[in-house]
Amino acid sequence: MCSVSRGRWRGRVTEHPITGAAALRESTTGARVIVLGRQGSGKGTQCARLSTRLGVPHISTGDLLRAAIAAGAPIGAHARAYVERGLLVPDEVVLDLVAARLAAPASRSAGYLLDGFPRTLAQAQALFEVLGDRAADVAVEIDVPAAAVLPRLIARRVCDDCGALTAAPEGWTHHLACPACGGIARRRDDDTDEAIARRLALYDEQSTPLLVWLDRRGALVTVDGLGSPDEVFDRLLATLEPRLAQGRDYQRTGTFRGPRT
Ligand SMILES: [Zn+2]
Repeated sequence: MCSVSRGRWRGRVTEHPITGAAALRESTTGARVIVLGRQGSGKGTQCARLSTRLGVPHISTGDLLRAAIAAGAPIGAHARAYVERGLLVPDEVVLDLVAARLAAPASRSAGYLLDGFPRTLAQAQALFEVLGDRAADVAVEIDVPAAAVLPRLIARRVCDDCGALTAAPEGWTHHLACPACGGIARRRDDDTDEAIARRLALYDEQSTPLLVWLDRRGALVTVDGLGSPDEVFDRLLATLEPRLAQGRDYQRTGTFRGPRT
């Protein structure tokens, strides 16, 4: 390598951190949203759509856990022991995974849509302790009663080959052909009636204090999750967009204009 090209290369390196820092400061306006909801509430689907619409990365703890397990990382091996037994992964393991993801430049700059975290009051307190009031601009609960999600979860089938989710017709207890790839779509091992009922009860137990705490901070909004995915998405946008606009206004001026809810 000749000295001229090395000089240019070095020059560009010194420019980079400055450009990067400016971009980070400017982009801290990225929305920070917590999405809550029972299993079967359509939370994952709505998060994917919101992520596209709001231009904010979708961070799913389910995906983080699967990625850590697939990568064979020590934390993944630890998590796997719980996942394989159908148990919830402990707070500290989930916190480590989420903290690592949130510390990535993309999250600091572009904001985030947290799906599946915080699941407990302790996790929420840890998140706000680390990130301060800006840990979340808003937390939205997609509210679907347990009685409505139960049949959805019982009907759920997952493709062995491509992982696509599909719903079995009512009363159908067997596997199906995957509509996406023709593979076999079956009930997951941890989707027995008993396991589903246990997870729904656990959600109620854990989310009640979490929702109360978020509400007291003025951070919680609730959206009716019954209806078609399009209807729910429209309701989510109608609720979230004014809130997020207020948040941006607050960042700029230091005061909220109008009601916070
Ligand atoms: Zn498939």
